[in-house]
Amino acid sequence: MNIKDTMAGRDLEALRAAIAGQVFVPGQAGYDQARQAWNLAVDERPSVVVVAGSAADVVTAVRYARAHGMRVAPQGTGHGAAPLEPLDGAMLLRTTRMRQVDIDPATRTARAQAGAVWQDVIVPAAEHGLAGLAGSSPNVGVTGYTLGGGIGFLARRYGLAANSVTAAELVTPGGDLVCADAGHEPDLFWAVRGGGGGVGVLTALQMRLYPVRELYAGDLFFPVQRAAEVLHAWREWTAAVPDEVTSICHLLRLPPLPELPQPLRGRAFAIIEAACLGDAGTGAELIGPLRRLGPERDTVAMIPASALGKLNMDPPQPVPGAGDGAFLADLPAAAIDTLVAVAGPDAQAPPDSVEVRHLGGALARPVPGGGAQPSIDASYLLYAAGATPTPSLAGPVRAHVQAVKDALAPWHASYDYYNFEDTPAPAAAVLPPASYRRLQEIKAAYDPDQVIISAHPVWPARPRHDTPRHRQP
Ligand SMILES: Cc1cc2nc3c(=O)[nH]c(=O)nc-3n(C[C@H](O)[C@H](O)[C@H](O)COP(=O)(O)OP(=O)(O)OC[C@H]3O[C@@H](n4cnc5c(N)ncnc54)[C@H](O)[C@@H]3O)c2cc1C
Repeated sequence: MNIKDTMAGRDLEALRAAIAGQVFVPGQAGYDQARQAWNLAVDERPSVVVVAGSAADVVTAVRYARAHGMRVAPQGTGHGAAPLEPLDGAMLLRTTRMRQVDIDPATRTARAQAGAVWQDVIVPAAEHGLAGLAGSSPNVGVTGYTLGGGIGFLARRYGLAANSVTAAELVTPGGDLVCADAGHEPDLFWAVRGGGGGVGVLTALQMRLYPVRELYAGDLFFPVQRAAEVLHAWREWTAAVPDEVTSICHLLRLPPLPELPQPLRGRAFAIIEAACLGDAGTGAELIGPLRRLGPERDTVAMIPASALGKLNMDPPQPVPGAGDGAFLADLPAAAIDTLVAVAGPDAQAPPDSVEVRHLGGALARPVPGGGAQPSIDASYLLYAAGATPTPSLAGPVRAHVQAVKDALAPWHASYDYYNFEDTPAPAAAVLPPASYRRLQEIKAAYDPDQVIISAHPVWPARPRHDTPRHRQP
């Protein structure tokens, strides 16, 4: 579509007049801000940005895009913008203004509009002693995170966030607002629970919350020089912990920023981040073996669930960065030795952050009636990332991240984790094969023209003689 011929004229004004939100095109004041993803290294240049103010706006925007032969890229925060294909000629449909969250303590559920971030859910839920299955960062969007699975600090006890979704409101690629739940639109309901955002534009998600009244959690900091000892001890410890314990071992090189506490500023650590559901006595007993290693700093204590977002020290503000991850089928001692060689104290150019998350527990048990990721067939999850403050650093940082991922290749599971695959991999690389095949059928039924652009694309199943409208990579 030629944006100059059609968008700048009458049709664009009609779109602006029809919605409560905003519309921006290249060259217009506000366009650059509206297109900016949370990951500042991503340069999205869509032909139009619609900042929707309501579900009705989303309907109008999708119908408008259809009428003008445009594809649509739904986006909340842009935390997951790195894997997206170029948006030239497309509409970037942002839900950032749609952040209303309603908590129902009686049914222990939350309904979050599509632009809500986890902080918007966690804080009001905590007032009722409830917690949602947030990830490590409270600034990540509820929708993108949940569409890709969602693994947080309560995951071994309560599973993937996607499998706690009870209903999804979405606008289909055809422009209809529908509600998908256990009794309606079963294919869409299945697809949005872990299969990514390729089947429509979500306008709200409803999800289960969990009673979390007692939580013993925090970080044990060791100097990075002790990485081998700490990682080995953590690995052995994870073999025996109950599902109430979810933990991460994190090699973190902190920048010399004045906002960081003096003892952490500009230093490198091996950190064990752990969350134990239960009382202080039980938690202290569980953490005991790690504490006896003698951390230089110990923040593990009784905390409210709403403070879990501090454990992983994710950047609170948008940053430019590059990362990548992999599910690990297993983590034997040899894998730890390999990890220490590529990311430990003597590594040549380790990424700023390399974490290994312990999976298993509820994540490993197939959820009856679950979605596109019914269970996770991997024991650990690797994620490496680095800041790229200048564009010239992007290549080297990506190479260092890739080196860590490649080094652990002997232990990779058969597919990667949807949410931690920051390269433009197809959905087939980040989902179980049977789920991908079912998603292809659903995509063919709901979006045969591939109107929706999603982080990891699904290519619709089609008869052999059909010509794809948009080229497969
Ligand atoms: C600092 C940080 C910490 C993280 N921690 C965790 C973690 O602990 N656990 C974990 O599992 N993941 C984690 N992630 C990964 C994160 O879950 C993904 O990047 C996720 O895609 C972010 O969702 P978002 O909505 O914020 O991002 P966005 O970039 O806005 O969305 C990502 C994708 O989701 C889809 N999408 C978003 N909104 C809609 C919509 N309304 N309709 C249809 N599709 C939509 C689109 O395909 C979009 O490209 C983390 C990422 C970062 C940067």
